[in-house]
Amino acid sequence: MKRILLLASLTLVVFSWSCSRVPITNRRQFNLLPESELMAMSLTEYKKVLNSSQLVPDADPNTAMVKRIGGKISAAITNYLNTHKNAKRVRGFKWEFNLIKDDKTVNAWCMPGGKVCVYTGLLPVSKDENGLAVVMGHEVAHAIARHGNERMSQQISLQLGGTALSVAMSQQPEKTQQIFNQCYGVGTTLGALAYSRKHETEADKLGLVFMALAGYDPETAVGFWERMAASSSGAPPQFLSTHPSSQTRIKDIKAFMPTAKKYYKPAGK
Ligand SMILES: [Zn+2]
Repeated sequence: MKRILLLASLTLVVFSWSCSRVPITNRRQFNLLPESELMAMSLTEYKKVLNSSQLVPDADPNTAMVKRIGGKISAAITNYLNTHKNAKRVRGFKWEFNLIKDDKTVNAWCMPGGKVCVYTGLLPVSKDENGLAVVMGHEVAHAIARHGNERMSQQISLQLGGTALSVAMSQQPEKTQQIFNQCYGVGTTLGALAYSRKHETEADKLGLVFMALAGYDPETAVGFWERMAASSSGAPPQFLSTHPSSQTRIKDIKAFMPTAKKYYKPAGK
């Protein structure tokens, strides 16, 4: 009887998660892990990163910029999702934005639950507030689109040999945590799995819409990615270490620009 109940509840969970669609792109996705569980794991890792990193103080203009962009983007997203009957996408989010002093790391990330870190190594390439809004919009998009959840669902089935997901999480917490770290590229951990091209392209599109909704001109993304391509002649920075190639990415971004522009409300208008 217990077994049947468990099966029934699992089926329900799987059913309800598999029914979700990514905002904006409307892509149907199959996320088998509860986001609440991922947020709890994120929080643990996030605190570890903060404890082991040197944060740039709030009084620094660059930290203020990171927090200002983050505040605008998160408010715009929340407002958009609320008015499109999709508030559950950000349920439980407690946004936080930090700038980590690390000039060698050209990176930024956003964990489930809205925990965002930007590394100072990114600032020379992002150049100005619009450039940084491109990256932050993109990283936040991965979290809103729950790309990590999709990857984790896939990795858990691969690495734990088809063990039921809920069982894997409760009985193999260390392994689950390890997969989580890999999938989310937590901190500057080496060996993080790269997002698939499908996820990168989707994050680019959502990122453009999010920055536009927040009052940043999405056209500036083209210049940013061109700077990025020019600056990464050696090893590419972590957050674009694989596909799509810079050329393809810029081409796709230009093709999506008319759509992104529809969401753009210049500040003060
Ligand atoms: Zn990405």
